[in-house]
Amino acid sequence: MYRIENHPKDSIDVILNEIFNYMEQHPLNRKSAKLLSVRKELRRTLKKYEEEYKENGEDLQQITNDNYKLSTIHGISNTHMKELYKDFFDSDSRFRQNLYNLTPNRCPICDANWGYAVRTLDHILPESIFPQFSILPLNLVPTCYRCNHSKSTTVGYLPNEGVINPFFNNINLTNYLKCYIYIQNNDFTTHIHLKPESDLHINHNRYQRLKFFYEKVYKMDETYSEVTRTSILNSLLVSLSKVGPMSQSQTKRFFSSLLEGMRREEIIKDGIVTTEYLKLLLLDSLIEVYDSNYHSLIQEMISEKLIIKRQAENF
Ligand SMILES: [Zn+2]
Repeated sequence: MYRIENHPKDSIDVILNEIFNYMEQHPLNRKSAKLLSVRKELRRTLKKYEEEYKENGEDLQQITNDNYKLSTIHGISNTHMKELYKDFFDSDSRFRQNLYNLTPNRCPICDANWGYAVRTLDHILPESIFPQFSILPLNLVPTCYRCNHSKSTTVGYLPNEGVINPFFNNINLTNYLKCYIYIQNNDFTTHIHLKPESDLHINHNRYQRLKFFYEKVYKMDETYSEVTRTSILNSLLVSLSKVGPMSQSQTKRFFSSLLEGMRREEIIKDGIVTTEYLKLLLLDSLIEVYDSNYHSLIQEMISEKLIIKRQAENF
């Protein structure tokens, strides 16, 4: 996860100008008329909320108590606010594009490259509960579909939960993760979990918040565990099958030599959860647990790979 370097270029004022201009051109629409009748109050109120959002950006939980849960703003309903978001932040909207431009390469939450991941806009404070933030660019973070979908309308009201917004917060996840590999039903299972609390020098509340963010809100443990099993471990098996038969101790040495060839400190300092980083975690865990059971299963999997390869060649 990383902090997005720049804040959105469009303020709530700019968004409202566009909305009101449009409404003035279509004054006969019933909803336009309603909105135009309260334009001054609405602008004042939404600007006030934008200021509060900025002031509390690093700890948005401060503005999630019941006083902030609104159903209307100057008579404009929650649903109407949602419609404004849909209309003015649709896929062709320059407001949406301006936000996308702030994260040109990767999802700020899970670090997935846009090449693989579908980009969406996520309301950090959900529009269904906090309509005053439904068209506020600071509340609209470009994240991948998977992160957006996992989070859904989760907020984090409790002291050990918290709200994370990449326009304000940063968590260097590469400091905190560990891979656990084990054998289950004659197959490998990999889990990318947070390191145990006792291994990390952070206070209890901070650890709880980290866990909430990582496991409950974005379910990143599931994403990273799956990538590690299906992609990283598989490519490791492919490399092993190319090397040829090796004993248990030779295989373990092979893992160590791969690990030595990696730039551990830099990968961790970069703070990006890349496939390189996950490979590093996987190798660490493999070396730690590698015994005859692991070795025979790996041998079995390699020979399967070789059979499939031969069949493909003969076909
Ligand atoms: Zn993501």
